[in-house]
Amino acid sequence: MMNWSTLGEKQPVATKMLQNSIQKNRIAHAYLFHGPRGTGKREASLLFAMRYFCENPQENEEPCGECVACKRIQSGNHPDVHWIKPDGQSIKKEQIEFLQKEFTYSSFESDSKIYIVEEADKMTVNAANRLLKFLEEPSRRTLAILLTEQVDALLDTILSRCQRIHFYPLAQEAYLQQLRNEGLSEANARLASALRFDLVEAKEIQSDEWFANGRKIVVQLMDRIVQSNEESYIYLHQTWMQHFDGRLQHEKGLDLLLVWLKDLVYLHLDEKEQLVFIDQMDRLEQQQAHLPLHRIKAAIYEVLQTKRRLAMHVHPTLAMEQLILKMER
Ligand SMILES: [Zn+2]
Repeated sequence: MMNWSTLGEKQPVATKMLQNSIQKNRIAHAYLFHGPRGTGKREASLLFAMRYFCENPQENEEPCGECVACKRIQSGNHPDVHWIKPDGQSIKKEQIEFLQKEFTYSSFESDSKIYIVEEADKMTVNAANRLLKFLEEPSRRTLAILLTEQVDALLDTILSRCQRIHFYPLAQEAYLQQLRNEGLSEANARLASALRFDLVEAKEIQSDEWFANGRKIVVQLMDRIVQSNEESYIYLHQTWMQHFDGRLQHEKGLDLLLVWLKDLVYLHLDEKEQLVFIDQMDRLEQQQAHLPLHRIKAAIYEVLQTKRRLAMHVHPTLAMEQLILKMER
């Protein structure tokens, strides 16, 4: 039987987030499940809808699978659960309008409704704008779940109204699981995966003091850059340059810095499930509050430039000094 626990083996993070939102009664108005084909997005929406309407929910927010509501949802004929799929090449405005009409009739079953839009990226602009109006009506007890393999193809206005849940390609998630099984902490497993370390390199970072210190130094340098009080320059010379020695070590430091900056982007996008430095949440949130998204993007660009300069044998001290100057702006 399909349930959260089997889905959780494939998608532990997404599953946990959904279970939590139900458990804590913090269900979003709209979700966006994104990730490649075959990663369990449909399965998750079905489970979510079943649990939402289930008459006899079980432990860990599992739907019972036996009650009338569960059975109807599974067979696709629950009056308050609507599925929208592309009609031919696209999802058309009329399909969304039809749905909205349906929703104006109150149901005998309950006063809540769920609609699930498959391949949401295939909505025409008109359909998307129509849906947007719907998402903007806060009074309705409706819950939208949009599914997509191509998150970039959706309008920003829609994205900003959805809580995004990432469904990882199974290879990556399976690798993360392997690292956890090898005894890596969640934070280290994520970091090793983000840095594309192989299993041997990944296991080394658990006990590698140099790496652990490098990680700290990256965070502390960022703290100083955020404060922009010229201390970052001193910190660079007194601490960073003492720790990272030569081009290869600098590249490792810069890779760590990139992962940190990407975490700040994820925070801005409210994609917490993607965070790598999950053990540094407070730090990340403090920095995010001071750094608007455009500055973080500019910083990522500068770090990539610095890596290029190092590869062209620019002296690390010079390359790093330039980086700090650019990032402080
Ligand atoms: Zn049930």
